[in-house]
Amino acid sequence: MLNKEQDIFNALFEGVSEGVLVVNTNQKIVSVNSSVEKMFGYDNGELIDQLLPVLIPKNYHAGHGAHFDGFMKQKEKRKMGVGRDLFGAKKSGEIFPLEVGLNPFKIDETTYIMALIVDVSVRKQQEEQILLLNEQLEKKVKERTKELSTSVKELKVLNIELDKENKKRIEAENKTKDALKKEKELNELKTKFLSLVSHEFKTPLSGILTSAMLLGKYKLTEQQQKRDKHLQTITNKVHYLNNILNDFLSLEILETGKVKYKFYTFRLSKVVNEVVYNANMLLKEGQRIKYPEDIDEISLTQDEKTVELALSNLVNNAIKYSPVNTEIIINIKQGKKFTTITIKDNGIGIPEADQKNIFNRYFRAENALLSEGTGIGLNIIKNHLQNLGGTLTFESEENVGSTFTMKIMNIAK
Ligand code: ADP
Repeated sequence: MLNKEQDIFNALFEGVSEGVLVVNTNQKIVSVNSSVEKMFGYDNGELIDQLLPVLIPKNYHAGHGAHFDGFMKQKEKRKMGVGRDLFGAKKSGEIFPLEVGLNPFKIDETTYIMALIVDVSVRKQQEEQILLLNEQLEKKVKERTKELSTSVKELKVLNIELDKENKKRIEAENKTKDALKKEKELNELKTKFLSLVSHEFKTPLSGILTSAMLLGKYKLTEQQQKRDKHLQTITNKVHYLNNILNDFLSLEILETGKVKYKFYTFRLSKVVNEVVYNANMLLKEGQRIKYPEDIDEISLTQDEKTVELALSNLVNNAIKYSPVNTEIIINIKQGKKFTTITIKDNGIGIPEADQKNIFNRYFRAENALLSEGTGIGLNIIKNHLQNLGGTLTFESEENVGSTFTMKIMNIAK
């Protein structure tokens, strides 16, 4: 029976694929199976009676004694070397990784320890390979991510460039559109200009012609008064035409940027008096101009001609667009930097719908068409005033009146 049990034990001992090794408390090897011999490269029976450290790499010998004693104190079944890698030393000196399970047991009061040993070289190699593969994979992922972010950056740059191109194209398109619009506007202006010239010149010219023809008929000395009257008409109409031509000239000068302002210091009262004096000749019946007479201390360092042109234009318009028996009031205020001049009338006013266009060249409000005019004056003087850092604005109500306000710098820059 004993022999049979021994046989079964031997069969099991030899049959397991793990290495099985038994030592006594003095670390003397008392039994090994062939797996252990194969694993460590020993011949059959060669390990018996050898001390355990023969299977342990030399550099672990120092620590091994303490580990063994520690285990002997506790004497319970456990895995060896938890948390650290274990290595075995082959007879050839080659070192290889292993895992060991420890099982203490007793036979006849003598304690033995059975160690179950597994060679984990292949597994470790595989683990290392997996680690290596993982590292390579991570590296690749990083590289790809970098490549991707570079591509994304490049795409962004490309996008920005495309955006720029697009903007440029839109700008070019808009420029073309603008140019076309300007050309159209120019054509419209030309047409307007031609019809205006033919209309505005035709009436005075035919007046001049009539007066000239009649002049020739008054041959007698006593008809001098009649001759004078026609001569006056001719002079007036020539002046009128001359003024229109001057306006066109101003336009041309403004347009080409050839305006040259001359700045010097003058008294505003001088300009006001001159404008009012000239305007008085144009007044309709019962019309009156009220203007400040206590402005001797107000001086401007400006282009006098332009200030005069602006003021006379505004006052002449006030007269032209107001009926008989009305008052035109000029007000003047000098501030620290600017002087403000307002010209108020109780005239026909400007219809609300036309107000937005009033400074456009050749524009005339619908209710002004019965009076002579070219629609140039306001456009010219607004441009001039703006060139000089000033402004021209107005408030108006149809059939009530208008107030034009010009603001000029006391000292032109
Ligand atoms: P013009 O008087 O030769 O037509 P302006 O440029 O001086 O040209 O004026 C443009 C238009 O503004 C006038 O045709 C008129 O419709 C309107 N306007 C100007 N001043 C007045 C005013 N004081 N009252 C009413 N309408 C005015």
